[in-house]
Amino acid sequence: MLLLKSDITSLQTKLLSWFRATKRDLPWRQTYDPYHVWISEIMLQQTQMDRGVKYFKRWVERFPSVVDVAKASEDEILKYWEGLGYYARARNLHKAAKEIVEHFSSVVPADYQTLLQLPGIGPYTAAAIASIAGNQDVVVVDANVNRIFARLLDIEEPVKNSGVQKLIRRTCESLLPKGKARSFNQALMDLGGLVCTPKQPSCSTCILQKGCQAFANGTVLKRPVLKAPAQTVYVARSVAVIVRGRKVYMQKRKKSAVWGGLWEFPGGQVVVQKGEEAVTIDLAKEVKKDSGLEVLINSKVIAVSHQYTHHKIELSAYHCSLENSSARRAKLTNCTQFRWLTLEELDEVSCNSGVRKVINFIKESAPEIFRN
Ligand code: SF4
Repeated sequence: MLLLKSDITSLQTKLLSWFRATKRDLPWRQTYDPYHVWISEIMLQQTQMDRGVKYFKRWVERFPSVVDVAKASEDEILKYWEGLGYYARARNLHKAAKEIVEHFSSVVPADYQTLLQLPGIGPYTAAAIASIAGNQDVVVVDANVNRIFARLLDIEEPVKNSGVQKLIRRTCESLLPKGKARSFNQALMDLGGLVCTPKQPSCSTCILQKGCQAFANGTVLKRPVLKAPAQTVYVARSVAVIVRGRKVYMQKRKKSAVWGGLWEFPGGQVVVQKGEEAVTIDLAKEVKKDSGLEVLINSKVIAVSHQYTHHKIELSAYHCSLENSSARRAKLTNCTQFRWLTLEELDEVSCNSGVRKVINFIKESAPEIFRN
């Protein structure tokens, strides 16, 4: 798209004035410290703003600097990430913190090329940190920015197509005012998050309405064109809450596995059809395979659902006891470590949201299973 110089200047002015007037008061915007911007950018991937702000505040209270992150154990890092999902982000953040301490004198870089050398930082995150913390002249093309330009230009092709991505990036670069990337990028990201939203855009109050082709053509809600979402995979999983005296068995997943480094109850799972109910999982056999422990199944504790990426999991937890006292040594297959934990210690380990729901239920509603 060829833009006249006067159009470019007008659009830049509108965006920058709008941002000055409506800028959200976010904690990392108080100092634009590269460490804070980095943490916020990683946390906000796949996370709603309110939730991200809550986790961010808790994080910087416990880890005020990158040195504190580097010094912490991976278990603690994952514990502070619990509930945000996509745990590889937290593990990479931990690795990157150690590299920053070792190779960058404990100073989080704010330069695009340097940032790209760190684990977990790809072109998008590097551009966001370099422009927001370092005010470097690089554009940030996130989902919000894609949506705005797909509408401004009324793009009929899927927005993720490489040709469309190149067009959006080129247009965005031609609009970037030199030396003002920090405000410009955040203005676009905020406009996409607050005004040009996916389902109910506020076109009547939008500063860009005059030049918006989708608005003029009545196609706003058809843009951006998205590819069909991946099909949901339905999984039925059964797990054993094995109680011995006043302690319960948990095991820690291998780093390379899904939910690597998180703690779980042993068990097994099968892929099912949507809505399928009668699924038989031989739990005792699965537990033996998974942990080496022989168990007796006593009763069902609770069934909960949880979701990750495009998997929907129905998790059924059963109260179990060890079949004989000689079989207490676990032989792990998918895990690296096991512990017998008290009710209180269950809060110290990091788990995915489904396992946490089971733990919360046991603590609040079924503590009697610890009295056998
Ligand atoms: Fe988005 Fe509507 Fe503004 Fe166009 S006019 S940029 S569709 S909010």
